[in-house]
Amino acid sequence: MALLEIDNLRTTFDIHVGKVQAVRGVSLTVGEGETVGIVGESGCGKSVSMLSVLHLLPDYARIEADAMRFDGTDLTKLSPKMFRRISGDQIGMIFQDPMTSLNPLFTIGQQLMEPLRIHKGMKRDEARRVVLEKLRMVEIPDPESRMKQYPHELSGGMRQRIMIAMAIMCNPRLIIADEPTTALDVTIQAQILDLLASLQKQLGTAVIMITHDLGVIAGMCSRVAVMYGGVIVEQGTVREIFYEPRHPYTWGLLRSIPQKAGEKKKLVPIPGSPPDLIAPPKGCPFTARCPYAMNVCAQAMPELRPLTDTHCARCYLMDEGAPKVTWEGSRT
Ligand code: SF4
Repeated sequence: MALLEIDNLRTTFDIHVGKVQAVRGVSLTVGEGETVGIVGESGCGKSVSMLSVLHLLPDYARIEADAMRFDGTDLTKLSPKMFRRISGDQIGMIFQDPMTSLNPLFTIGQQLMEPLRIHKGMKRDEARRVVLEKLRMVEIPDPESRMKQYPHELSGGMRQRIMIAMAIMCNPRLIIADEPTTALDVTIQAQILDLLASLQKQLGTAVIMITHDLGVIAGMCSRVAVMYGGVIVEQGTVREIFYEPRHPYTWGLLRSIPQKAGEKKKLVPIPGSPPDLIAPPKGCPFTARCPYAMNVCAQAMPELRPLTDTHCARCYLMDEGAPKVTWEGSRT
């Protein structure tokens, strides 16, 4: 049984200029101990999907799903109290910018002890002991002194380690990491990714890695979902997505990965910009930017079609009789 199972998730924001259909029917499963990546440009719906699972969106967001099961329990049917108990205890979240996620008015120790006292009912001394243990796990030097400091006294990398310690504080079975390295410089990014990978190995926690960086996906994940315009356009193992991609948007993402110094391959940007999700196109959301778009593409959303047991894609080029365009061919 999957640890997390999301079935047909839809999230809409009701704002003054209309309804933004940010997530338009996302289905995803994550197994126990598995690392799944969600990749796509800003505004494609990847973060909103996961924030919807945790009910971490403002009041004007409307979240609907056929089912959202965590370890067999349907999260959509729980009372707010039971939902908080499961999500707070068993799902940890790491946000993009640790400076805005930590409260500047409280010490690191106060903020880290709070979930243990609320969710686990621990006394102060016991909570302090657990916090010190977790700070050592995330390789924070001199954790006793760090507990007395405020967020602004720590570097960006150190603050992100604190956020990771907070995410693993209640020994969650799933960690959702939302662009955990985007706000950090390159050398610190590598350290944080190494730390996440080693913690996952030690604790056996499942991880959902939200990122726009395919390099992060290649280094950490076993499966990946590519999102565009509020829908998953392709999903597969990392090998399938990197070596046998079938969707033109995935091709575009792969072509826009920066090359190593000295390599001659050209960096090819994807022209245009993502669709307006207040009035999303009724057909394939990539139509306006796709070099292979056909008349049918603008008329109806293509189905997510299986290619193997693990690989599926949403594109009319997979239809019988469609022009033969392949990833290899698309690069020439
Ligand atoms: Fe391009 Fe059409 Fe495929 Fe969409 S369905 S990616 S527009 S070819």
